[in-house]
Amino acid sequence: MGSISFIIKHYGHWTEDNCYVDYTTEAIMIKEYASYKDLVDEVANQIGVDLRYNRLKLKYKIEGSIAPLEIHNDMEMRVYVSLKKEAREFAKYPICVTVSVNDRDINCKNEYEEDVGMCMINGGSFESCKPIVVVDGSHLRGTYNGTFVSARMEQFREAHGLKNKMCVVSDRNESIIKAVSRIYNIPHYACMFHLWKNVKTLYKKSHDSFSEVFYEMAKAYKHSEFNELMKKVEHVDIKVKNYLELAGYDKWARVYATVDRGTVMTSNIAECINGCLVKARELPIYDFLEEIRQMFGRWNFKNHTSASNTFTTRCGKAQAMLAENEELSLHMTVVATSNYVHSVRHEGETFIVCLEKKTCTCRRFQVDEIPCSHAWAVLKKKFLDSEPYCSDLYKPNTLLVTYANPINPLPDRKDWNMPAYVENEIFKPPKFK
Ligand SMILES: [Zn+2]
Repeated sequence: MGSISFIIKHYGHWTEDNCYVDYTTEAIMIKEYASYKDLVDEVANQIGVDLRYNRLKLKYKIEGSIAPLEIHNDMEMRVYVSLKKEAREFAKYPICVTVSVNDRDINCKNEYEEDVGMCMINGGSFESCKPIVVVDGSHLRGTYNGTFVSARMEQFREAHGLKNKMCVVSDRNESIIKAVSRIYNIPHYACMFHLWKNVKTLYKKSHDSFSEVFYEMAKAYKHSEFNELMKKVEHVDIKVKNYLELAGYDKWARVYATVDRGTVMTSNIAECINGCLVKARELPIYDFLEEIRQMFGRWNFKNHTSASNTFTTRCGKAQAMLAENEELSLHMTVVATSNYVHSVRHEGETFIVCLEKKTCTCRRFQVDEIPCSHAWAVLKKKFLDSEPYCSDLYKPNTLLVTYANPINPLPDRKDWNMPAYVENEIFKPPKFK
């Protein structure tokens, strides 16, 4: 007995005129004598759907028929297999998959794993942050697929609008890219960890010791720095270089990013939130949302308290970076060209600092928005304070604004004043696919 290979299309939906659109394609293989159940199990496994809580509808189209045919028993499975065997063409008769929720389980368990990272931004003020939105798709292959991301992005746009120099950083899950680009036409960047994971899977020479070179390259501030490192990559495996080039340097390397992505090189922040909610995801929807509310409430308060107790001019990481740069600024030679422009010599290299434009040729001053070591050397020579040369975003007062609105507790459910029309309404999950 042989096997048959075929294409499955998923994450898409059927239009009124029987076309399956907006899908993702994958190939699978199944034994010729496989039953309908085997097929469903295999497809669910491939696209990451848990059949305890979901149902799959498998449809395909044949020539001359407008409406698709559905496979929902062994007989129809046999028909499909014989069609595929006759066709011999691998891409013919793709199976289009739609996922729906098992009604009986709606109140038992939900896999609403969407980007909770956005909740945090929704909870706080977005005015006093860099407009960088991190979206994590590590659990998107649950019940709701990309629906939640789409819905959330819509709400997000409604709440925050389009900001100047806004960008999205994600693990580049196709559903996220699709959902985001439907709502926003802004640059979409990759998480460097996820991208490198792909490279390591594809190319064996890209072992762990080589990872450091890639991360350094992704985080490089100068093109010359980037090019040096890329030469090393090319030397070890040109295929890796080609892959990274094809992925688009602007997608993963800070130096090529068309909009400042600051220090956000990974989707860690969103993954961390997902990690904190692993247990909560087992809960029914109300309890799950309450867990999220409590967690963000707690974090909001903690960050607010920490900002009010900060007596340095800058907060946390920015303060540490500022101190580190100050330390590095020792033993540099500064020569003034004008009131603002200075050249700074350090270990045989020359850097040009412009205090007026807040730039340095090392590019850290303008990217990090705090004085780099070279700018520090100039400030010291001129007996100037570093404060006006740091972004206001790092000030404790700015952070206080971000966390100014507490996430208030909800009264007990028994005390809710619920209008009858709401109480009597039965809500079902969206019919999304
Ligand atoms: Zn510099």
